[in-house]
Amino acid sequence: MIENRAPGKDVTAKDLLEKFPLTAKKDLSHKSLINVNGVIFGGKKIPLMCGPNMAESEELVVDVARFLRRHNVDFLRAGAFKPLSFPYRSPNYTETRHAGLRFLKSAKQETGIQIITEVMEAKYLDDICGVADVLQIGARNMQNYPLLIDCAKTGFPIMLKRHFGCSLRDLLGAAEYILNSGNQRLILCERGVVAPHTHRDSSRFLLDLQAVPALHELTHLPIAVDPSHACFWRHWVGPLACASVAVGADALMLEVHPDPENAAVDPLQAISYEDFEQLRNKIQNISLAMDRVI
Ligand code: PEP
Ligand code: MN
Repeated sequence: MIENRAPGKDVTAKDLLEKFPLTAKKDLSHKSLINVNGVIFGGKKIPLMCGPNMAESEELVVDVARFLRRHNVDFLRAGAFKPLSFPYRSPNYTETRHAGLRFLKSAKQETGIQIITEVMEAKYLDDICGVADVLQIGARNMQNYPLLIDCAKTGFPIMLKRHFGCSLRDLLGAAEYILNSGNQRLILCERGVVAPHTHRDSSRFLLDLQAVPALHELTHLPIAVDPSHACFWRHWVGPLACASVAVGADALMLEVHPDPENAAVDPLQAISYEDFEQLRNKIQNISLAMDRVI
């Protein structure tokens, strides 16, 4: 019964039937497998999407891609078009835009890694689709419905990040726009929500770990978690990544940079290559305990 899956506070049984029928589970065992060029989201394997916040330079993204391929990571994450919080730019702190897409293309050609990168404006979709394997819709654009529909219509797989101020009901409503536009290859991503108080000044968001089992109750779509954007503090990324796997994450997005302190964007949240190697071992062990693999 639907009632068993929906506590009824945020998402009601009626919502599942009427507001997002395509996104809602049809029954308790309903789970979609999303195939991205042979990598399956929502199955036993937990795909990793790792890399710098921004596609800073060709040298950087190719280096990260080589490192990740050595560790069997399937996806390189890096933004070329980015929602930077403030309009002022310095030579380092600036969107790389079309140059960034070229850097990502080089990384893909050199290593065969798949690319997930953000779409900010529909007018660049053709260019982004020339290199991306998965289109990322960032938290800030979660409710930009025309953008969701335009992305959906490309037929490319999409990862939709939950806005930090939005309920699960809002997230599922946004997901419905994509499924309703004829694109079934959708992954949802929890990336932290605004909370009145967090321990560190720099911890901007609070990772909503319980969103993962809650979403699994409600929807058949795979659920990814991005602990890097949630905590904004590299020392917490590992524990939160482990916890994400323990609560049932179907995929992880992790910010990884060879020189985190000097990352052009969000230097506090990226982990180093060495940290990633250690974390990967831990995630592997926790995955096994959860009857998953990475
Ligand atoms: C990102 O992944 O680069 C990003 C900007 O994330 P979010 O939309 O979750 O803030
Ligand atoms: Mn950021």
